[in-house]
Amino acid sequence: MSCSGNHKNAERSDERKRMVEEQIKKRGISDERILRAMLEVPRHRFVDRGQQVFAYDDAPLPIGYGQTISQPYIVAFMIEALMPAPSHRVLEIGTGSGYAAAVLSRVVAEVYTMETVKPLYETAKKRVEELEYNNIHLRLGDGTKGWPEAAPFDGILVSAGAPLVPKSLVDQLAPGGRLVIPVGGRINQSLLRITRAADGQLLQEELAMVRFVPLVGEEGW
Ligand code: SAH
Repeated sequence: MSCSGNHKNAERSDERKRMVEEQIKKRGISDERILRAMLEVPRHRFVDRGQQVFAYDDAPLPIGYGQTISQPYIVAFMIEALMPAPSHRVLEIGTGSGYAAAVLSRVVAEVYTMETVKPLYETAKKRVEELEYNNIHLRLGDGTKGWPEAAPFDGILVSAGAPLVPKSLVDQLAPGGRLVIPVGGRINQSLLRITRAADGQLLQEELAMVRFVPLVGEEGW
């Protein structure tokens, strides 16, 4: 029986409905599967008790260790930019709270996610297990080198701002795969989408200006 699961998903569902209508749909996100995932994933379960009242606000929130959970709209925008299909395997760099990985896990087949801060990794792992998102694989380590054992990926989502595009990540894109990554300065970055065409050619597009915490590590800051 999935009664308890349904109950869990029903928690604060009115606030999520409002979030999706006012913050996500109105700004032009139209992929039904992403909208459904945002209605389903309990964002308040990904922040500390003291932050839970703000969980459905139109803003990023602190998650400790100087890091933040991204604004809901940004999560939806970046996932839509990946053009995710149900069969896809996606790598996320910067697990943070685990929220973006949870939303992604409702729209693709497998999610691989990496985090460098150990307590964040541990908390995210516990949450993902409690909520039974069984297609999320978490790893503690430097995501700028990717996850070679699980590569290639149909999509790679980087949730932190990079000084340059890490070569290891481009190398781990499957033909037709897309890398969505904020690149630029420590405060402001431009959100890039790099697509590997079937013939191996790389196409780069600039999607928006964004503000992310720095991507650290060997191919980061
Ligand atoms: N997607 C997250 C938000 C992440 S904030 C969420 O939904 O909550 C960015 C995260 O990237 C931080 O937790 C930071 O510790 C992590 N990070 C920074 N550099 C990294 C690297 N090289 N590898 C993996 N994680 C990294």
